[in-house]
Amino acid sequence: MANEGRGRSRACCLWVAMVSMAVDDEAKTRFVNRRGHLWELLIIRAMPRHAGRSSDDEEPLEDNTEALFLRSKRTERQQKRRARRDRKREAVVSLVKLPTELILACLQLLPPSDVLAFRDLNRRFRQLVDANARSLGHAIIRQRYSLLAQCFPLPKLLADVDPAVRPLLVNEKRQRLMGMHHKPYQHIQPPDAHLLCTCLSCIMTWNNLCLTLDFAQWQNHLDHGTPLPMIPRGQTPAWNQNLVHRNACVVRAALTNPLWYAWTLEMHLQSTIRAIRRHAKNKGNQRKHVDMTEGEAALGTDTFLTKPGPLSLEFPFHRDEYYMLEAYLPNRYWKRDHQRWIYGTSVHHERDLELVARLAVR
Ligand SMILES: [Zn+2]
Repeated sequence: MANEGRGRSRACCLWVAMVSMAVDDEAKTRFVNRRGHLWELLIIRAMPRHAGRSSDDEEPLEDNTEALFLRSKRTERQQKRRARRDRKREAVVSLVKLPTELILACLQLLPPSDVLAFRDLNRRFRQLVDANARSLGHAIIRQRYSLLAQCFPLPKLLADVDPAVRPLLVNEKRQRLMGMHHKPYQHIQPPDAHLLCTCLSCIMTWNNLCLTLDFAQWQNHLDHGTPLPMIPRGQTPAWNQNLVHRNACVVRAALTNPLWYAWTLEMHLQSTIRAIRRHAKNKGNQRKHVDMTEGEAALGTDTFLTKPGPLSLEFPFHRDEYYMLEAYLPNRYWKRDHQRWIYGTSVHHERDLELVARLAVR
């Protein structure tokens, strides 16, 4: 131990001497520069074992240092999160790379709710959908809801009515009389007379479209047998005002945007399918039911409603009617001789406008 202690002492002195020589001696300076600081440290550690050897016997040192492998649960979680985020970004990027025509061709095959969800993905998709809402909406309605579109036509805008008849429609006296004869419903916001034609047909089509959205709102209650909230006569709770206002906003959007019109029809198709399922289970209800298979319901189109079924003669004037409402499909009747539905039986906008003009000159 004493010899070893003396050896380490000599080695340290030797190293100190080498470093001090490196400052003045040119050969030693090159030696230090070529090997670098790491080498010097290794020499210090190795010196005691080779203290007795001359510098000529020493083997060249190899740099075996390796990068440390970092492993922690936190790092792994971060890596997984990053990988997930990257995968999502790659998916979006690949969709973005598709040509616009191909994206639009795909969107035409989707239900409107999926197209609107796609629209919310990013700014480019929003602009793409908005710019093509008209053609997309028309294509989707043609493929999926051609029958429902005939049952629920859009009311006409006042701007599209003959300018000579417009003042007659918004006439204060006429509006007052209309208000007396047609009391506002709890579940439907009255149409804006300065935006829409308020002939009887257009009021009815407005009411029908608002009704589809209100009926859709209560499907979970009806499926689970939860009673619908009752509103005492004369009261207007805020939740109901908000609901009918929201429905009116959607129908107003549908007037000018066929994609929102298609979405409204999609909502009613879903409500109708759920109502048919409910009533099929209700053995106590012996009325004539709508014929629908689960395969037909899964298609997401209204084709199965071409089959003969019950008529929708009465407008559901109160939410109480929803309990027994199965398939509300107005504006058509079943022609037995031809074994098919005839559409457009109760919407007569032009004829109603003529009536408004005739009554005005009396
Ligand atoms: Zn009208």
